[in-house]
Amino acid sequence: MGFGFKYFSLTLQVNRLYTHKPIDDMETKKFLLSEKDIPTQWYNIAADMINKPAVPLHPGTRKPLTAEDLSPIFAEELCRQELNFTDRFIEIPEEVRDVYRNYRPTPLVRAYGLEKALDTPAHIYFKNESVSPVGSHKLNSAIAQAYYCKQQGITNITTETGAGQWGAAMSYAARFFGLELAVYMVKISYEQKPYRRSIMQSYGATVVASPSMSTRAGKNIITRNPNYQGSLGTAISEAIELATSTENCRYVLGSVLNHVSLHQTIIGQEAKKQMEMAGEYPDVVIACFGGGSNFSGIAFPFMSDSINMGKKTRFVAAEPASCPKLTRGRMLYDFGDEAGYTPLLKMYTLGHNFSPAHIHAGGLRYHGAGTIVSQLMEDKMMEAIDIKQLESFEAALLFAKAEGIIPAPESSHAIAATIREAQKCKEEGVQKTLLFNLSGHGLIDMTAYDSYLAGDLKNFVLSQEEIDNNLSEIIKMQ
Ligand SMILES: *Cc1c(COP(=O)(O)O)cnc(C)c1O
Repeated sequence: MGFGFKYFSLTLQVNRLYTHKPIDDMETKKFLLSEKDIPTQWYNIAADMINKPAVPLHPGTRKPLTAEDLSPIFAEELCRQELNFTDRFIEIPEEVRDVYRNYRPTPLVRAYGLEKALDTPAHIYFKNESVSPVGSHKLNSAIAQAYYCKQQGITNITTETGAGQWGAAMSYAARFFGLELAVYMVKISYEQKPYRRSIMQSYGATVVASPSMSTRAGKNIITRNPNYQGSLGTAISEAIELATSTENCRYVLGSVLNHVSLHQTIIGQEAKKQMEMAGEYPDVVIACFGGGSNFSGIAFPFMSDSINMGKKTRFVAAEPASCPKLTRGRMLYDFGDEAGYTPLLKMYTLGHNFSPAHIHAGGLRYHGAGTIVSQLMEDKMMEAIDIKQLESFEAALLFAKAEGIIPAPESSHAIAATIREAQKCKEEGVQKTLLFNLSGHGLIDMTAYDSYLAGDLKNFVLSQEEIDNNLSEIIKMQ
């Protein structure tokens, strides 16, 4: 009943928006750059950090890993980027920029509709990464990773995917550079999101539901729990196992790692130029948070100004309440995957054994936060909030009605966080400039919207006991 009433009231607010203004009288809505404005370098925040991110450790010897240690798993150049804490900028290869031109630069949009619907004094901007051919920011790193694999003479790559966004992006990139790709897709998403599977297959990738019987890691988990619906951690284990047991094959990862965050910084670099065009500078930069790549992408180029120019911008990561590593996890050495194949990463984690609830924002169901973002959290350079599933969908529908774009369930967490900030501005009567990253659209997530509109979705609450239980095993590993 409460739901119906709220839904009705949102509709009323949004109906007021459509007062026609001649275009000449309107302030600019979209800030557009040209192809030559696509950044030529990625920004490496690690070089600017006073406290460097912790280096990954070998799980057996506990010794810091070198690029050579990582190279059986990842392409060599990506290993070097992963451990590069010294070069502030890294050149983007011309071949990569050329593929970026298929969809970049992406627009920066002033969300007039949302501002009106909220009746807020805040100026709200969003960077629209949903315009990429696969509908999310993930392509920014997929293209770079496929390029470096190809350049090294690698023929086959493996990866995992949660909601299917990363798998779709990697399938596009692999096709572009002529690589064979095998994708382990989290089983629940494989079933809930069949169209993402079709997208991957359309680009020519092989897609396997994870846990599968094709790897030792998958078999072990199925034996322990035959009904297991899968998680990103498990899918990563399977993909790494296949990569390390296949000739001329490497593994690629779509989030969490430093080199992935690095590639995503083109988002923030473009957004900085576009905010300049708008004549504003954000007071708050907001992004949803799974493993941290789109957050890093929009935030780091602005955070550079906080570090080097004393700007006082706030950076807010919005994570799901059902997978709250930044707000309720601990900074510990932990594995990146369920089976414990990856190096140990020092990061905010809920434990690699954590099995998140099956929320529809599949891309946010990951237990850890990556080492750079974790160090920035420790150093209070950024903050995090958690958003419950129903609040994220309520925000998504308000945004859809106000701005005409149906957001990805992941991105809806950033929208919900932005709405909270905008409401605070209204309550306090202050005008602030808010910038959030629209990491993707939700047009392939309509089953999730169906469930929400039918009133079938619920919030998942994690007890402190569950979190403590999970973390106790990780604490023993330190
Ligand atoms: C994967 C994904 C995310 C979460 O990943 P991050 O690395 O935290 O950015 C967020 N939004 C969309 C649309 C995604 O596909």
